Amino acid sequence: MSAASEAAVEPCSKSDMTREEAKLAFHEADAVCFDVDSTVVTTEGVDEFAAFLGVGDKVAELTASAMNGDMKFHEALDARLSIMGATAESLDEFVRTHPATFTPGVERLIASLQARGTHVYLVSGGFTQMIFPLADRLSLPRSRVFANTILFGDEGEYSGFDQTAPTAWAGGKAKVIAQLRQEHGYPVVAMVGDGATDLEARPPADVFVGFGGIAQRPEVMANADLWVTDFADVQAILDEAAAATEAAAATEAATATEAAEDTSSSARS
Ligand SMILES: [Mg+2]
Repeated sequence: MSAASEAAVEPCSKSDMTREEAKLAFHEADAVCFDVDSTVVTTEGVDEFAAFLGVGDKVAELTASAMNGDMKFHEALDARLSIMGATAESLDEFVRTHPATFTPGVERLIASLQARGTHVYLVSGGFTQMIFPLADRLSLPRSRVFANTILFGDEGEYSGFDQTAPTAWAGGKAKVIAQLRQEHGYPVVAMVGDGATDLEARPPADVFVGFGGIAQRPEVMANADLWVTDFADVQAILDEAAAATEAAAATEAATATEAAEDTSSSARS
């Protein structure tokens, strides 16, 4: 990073929340958007695909600079795809033979969120061809996936990417969240991710959970409302809240019983 760009970085955290406030906001979220690479899964899909195609080192370098915010997203995407030489056939084969590994705890967390009625989205700069199968494994409708799509010609040759997807552009994740808020009227939206493009989605997201279980990025760690390295810590927010709700209900029931007893005893006296 050059001295000039270093000076441009804000000296203090952008978060205006305490850890407790961030936990409460996450607990109250009506929708939770998850980044995919190095968040929901343990790898970077494009890097894995590039390795499969024999251009791993070159593409990993480009991905790293894109993640650190040194390159505009659509430029990095274009640069990576241009050197990959993917075909429809090689992408199919890769997806079939290299199923991604879920990050420990994420399947349970997403299932818990869905069970309590929270809408879960996968919002990624990766590719729908790799992410749709993950959504299927998580029992998420494919309509809740916002990502890029690699395009192929009639002969299966690479022919670009769908540039109408907001995620193909810088600030794309923020655009997706703004769009979701408008469409669904969610009062509280949470974003969970490891990268600079995830951080820049808050706002419009109300709370940003930085996930450092796979990759730790200092800028993301410094600016996250809540920084976690294990999804068990996020699961605990839901579990504690559920326990607190149960305890509150029990207290209320006990108070009601007491009040009823008081009324009957005062009636007797
Ligand atoms: Mg990521």
